[in-house]
Amino acid sequence: MRVGVLGGGQLGWMLARAADPIGIRCRFLDPSPEAPAGRAGELVVGAYDDPVALDVFADGLALVTYEFENVPAASTRRLAARARILPPPGALEVSQDRVDEKRFLESVGIPVAPWRAVASLDDLARAVAALGYPAVLKTRRLGYDGKGQRVLRTPGDVEEAWAQLGSAPLILEGFVRFDRELSILAARGRDGATACYPLVENLHAGGILRRSLAPAPHVSPALQARAEGHARRVLDALEYVGVLAIELFQVGEELLANEVAPRVHNSGHWTIEGAETSQFENHMRAVAGLPLGSTAATGASVMLNLIGVMPEGPAVLAVPGAHLHDYGKAPRAGRKLGHVTLRADDAAELGRLRARLEPLIPADPPIYG
Ligand code: AMP
Repeated sequence: MRVGVLGGGQLGWMLARAADPIGIRCRFLDPSPEAPAGRAGELVVGAYDDPVALDVFADGLALVTYEFENVPAASTRRLAARARILPPPGALEVSQDRVDEKRFLESVGIPVAPWRAVASLDDLARAVAALGYPAVLKTRRLGYDGKGQRVLRTPGDVEEAWAQLGSAPLILEGFVRFDRELSILAARGRDGATACYPLVENLHAGGILRRSLAPAPHVSPALQARAEGHARRVLDALEYVGVLAIELFQVGEELLANEVAPRVHNSGHWTIEGAETSQFENHMRAVAGLPLGSTAATGASVMLNLIGVMPEGPAVLAVPGAHLHDYGKAPRAGRKLGHVTLRADDAAELGRLRARLEPLIPADPPIYG
């Protein structure tokens, strides 16, 4: 079976490698001839809104999926005339606009930070008066890894943030004083069966994910159940097929949703070595109509993103349980170049091994600094 994948970044590369053993070959569409997924599958080079490239990509395909959420709606419509698109394009629409996403989450009973849509400087003044400081101003569309957002701490920040971001439609969110950030990854099959991975604890710096701990420590069964409830409501409401991630803020025993990613997610990379079935395999199983695999963790894992600069490979590989994933991308400050997953049988052993591994991981920009 051949499946088309929109986007050929590292997520696509890992999807193709998980798909191969279960008999699924991938064909990618990506604007870059250097796209990492080209090493693991057929690559069509072209823009996502180029009709000729879309037709070449779709030729002979019955099924198309995607590994990033900013696929233009006109492109999914064009593809939908020839192939089945899973997850359903409705999930893309909800996640492409932060206001639509907030409305959707509220409509299925999932709490979010207080928010206001902002289209003018007057709107912004009213929104700030309603929500108070600090607050986070974000572009409604096309933001990722903390790009397109500013924290407003004092009235003096408002005009500058407006000057930086005000050319696009915006959303203002109340600043959540969270205890920590978590995410839940969940899969839904074509038959409606669902499976959730254990909650993951995420550390961001400068808006970029740096570290994920899985399973997240100190998670009560009630908290896991609440997160799974949120995930299942989202999956069912969207009639979703595939893997998705919900980024969450934990405040006490409450979970506020920050973002829905209708795709495999960076905070699920640990599942390659740390779970019975990886998020990548479960995504391909789901879209292909195959039974979902177990989402159980096989121990305790930490995933460290390699940002801007690569570590010494041999030193990393000398740490027992460490697995290096080099995406083969040109180094650039702030760019995700790879990740390392460290898997151990239990949390105590993981702690000992982390003390050896973490000093080997440089980051540009630095994590603490
Ligand atoms: P996002 O692009 O929405 O995923 O935001 C990137 C990161 O910024 C999040 O993972 C949080 O660390 C932080 N952040 C975003 N929105 C808020 C908020 N409303 N309150 C506090 N922190 C936030």
